[in-house]
Amino acid sequence: MKKKLIGRLSVLGIFCCCAALLAAAPRPAQPAVHARPAQNAETGPLAGRVILVDAGHGGTDGGARAKDSGVWEKELNLQTALALENLLEAEGAAVIMTRETDMQYSENKRTDLTARLDLAREGGADMVVSIHMNEYRTRRESGPQVFYRAGQEDSRLLAGCIQAAMISELKPAKERTAMAGDYFILSLNIPSVLVECGFISNSAEEALLRTPEYREKVAQGILDGILEYYTLKE
Ligand SMILES: [Zn+2]
Repeated sequence: MKKKLIGRLSVLGIFCCCAALLAAAPRPAQPAVHARPAQNAETGPLAGRVILVDAGHGGTDGGARAKDSGVWEKELNLQTALALENLLEAEGAAVIMTRETDMQYSENKRTDLTARLDLAREGGADMVVSIHMNEYRTRRESGPQVFYRAGQEDSRLLAGCIQAAMISELKPAKERTAMAGDYFILSLNIPSVLVECGFISNSAEEALLRTPEYREKVAQGILDGILEYYTLKE
């Protein structure tokens, strides 16, 4: 990546989440969501893998709000995460969902995110995939973008694989590059990415993201990237 490009993307990229929090927080007393048994746990290409899928935001934390429809990011995140859960399980993965309803672990953002990471730790997750929707103050920005923690080489590789697969699957008008981002959900020492699936501040992309068919393609792109990552790592 060229330095100039990194600088520009840093300006543009981007601010749906209040997830960029680094300090530790006390652990909340909330029940864990347990991994479901995988459908192809013995035979699929992801057999033996434990993947945490995090539907960003939830409850009183709606995340970004779509400019046209008024739909909250948390809802699109959840529907996309559920689609990804199904695809991952069909490939043999054990999936830990941080949420499967409109909920949060705490109204304190740091406590909420810490609880989500605790699920990954306690469930023995091999990977973290956090699902979000992007927004920007102007309406023209578009395209999925994957973030990883700087200095985590496996996360960078995973992010690159998912970025490429999403571009291949979704054929977005704007092809973005995976980039480093300082998000708390990326702070475990396992391959971790935050996927901004598209811009809900962009009319055309918001309209797509509100359809189950497009979210299925988003999930397929993420799955393809994960499969490519494990192929490269073998
Ligand atoms: Zn978000």
